[in-house]
Amino acid sequence: MGPRIFSGVQPTGHLTLGNYLGAVRRWVEVDQLRGDALFCVVDLHALTVEHDPARVRRLSRQAATLLLAAGLDPERCTVFVQSHVDEHVRLSYLMECTASDGEMRRMIQYKEKSAEAARRGESVRVSLLTYPALMAADILAYGTQEVPVGADQTQHVELTRDLAVRFNQRYGETFVVPRATHPEVAARVMDLQDPTSKMGKSGQGRKTGVVYLLDEPEVVRKKVMRAVTDEGGDGGVVYERGARPGVANLLDVLAAFSGGEPARLAEGYASYGALKRDVAEAVVEGLRPVRERHAELAADRGYVDAVLRGGAERARGMARPRVDAAYRAVGL
Ligand code: ADP
Repeated sequence: MGPRIFSGVQPTGHLTLGNYLGAVRRWVEVDQLRGDALFCVVDLHALTVEHDPARVRRLSRQAATLLLAAGLDPERCTVFVQSHVDEHVRLSYLMECTASDGEMRRMIQYKEKSAEAARRGESVRVSLLTYPALMAADILAYGTQEVPVGADQTQHVELTRDLAVRFNQRYGETFVVPRATHPEVAARVMDLQDPTSKMGKSGQGRKTGVVYLLDEPEVVRKKVMRAVTDEGGDGGVVYERGARPGVANLLDVLAAFSGGEPARLAEGYASYGALKRDVAEAVVEGLRPVRERHAELAADRGYVDAVLRGGAERARGMARPRVDAAYRAVGL
């Protein structure tokens, strides 16, 4: 049956090119074909920051539809919504009882998002701090061996490993210790307007540095053509992640779609303009099938509902015995 694989995506905004290249495309092209894989819209995680209930519901459905549009096949893998399976929350509490306050506070994402909330004058929800406990539960409930994610999730998966090992040591062998896997290129797609920050979907409103999977071709072209490139003149295109993050990001995206090494691809360009034109077309063409299939699926609510219902049922059946065992192990 191959390795047990689990990963997820948050409905905190519209799915981005970063989500696609860092995670979803590999789920489709590699993971669902070689393992027993589960993919989840992690809607509980969307409540860790200020949220609008109707928007979360709409985005959850859109995310699920997009995963199917991108090519996840319910005959080959399990697609479901986190809140439909109670085991995640049940196990999350045991993870909170396994983790320390200090290790939660060290998480980069917590530091960044809590600072952002403070800047906006919002209070920081306790769940933003305990988020990694829920994420650990998401992963460990299924006996997961591999977690295919973008590079930004490495720290959370490391913590999940630590919690699994600690729980097993304290209470007896209960959890499989998982490992993260990353794509070879574009494991961290950067914002086109600020190539030192990752391209992220969260926050209100659409951002010009973020390409969304459902952007119209004209919008994609405009965003890519306006991408910030680096100082250092247009005398030549070179791949230097540290010194030229904007150009390196474009080369990574191009390599992800067209194959080849980003540094080698750079040799084929004399100007940033020519590079941007090719990147824009590669992105437009690469995303076209996803956009088209999304339009078809969005019109068929019954199908998406049936997939999610079946997915939740299967996921529940897989998670329950292990979560029950964990409850017994801690003395409940
Ligand atoms: P976001 O930060 O967009 O809210 P999620 O937390 O929902 O993303 O992550 C879903 C998946 O997409 C994760 O595997 C994450 O590592 C990956 N991912 C998110 N942003 C990027 C990015 N800019 N580049 C590569 N992978 C990314």
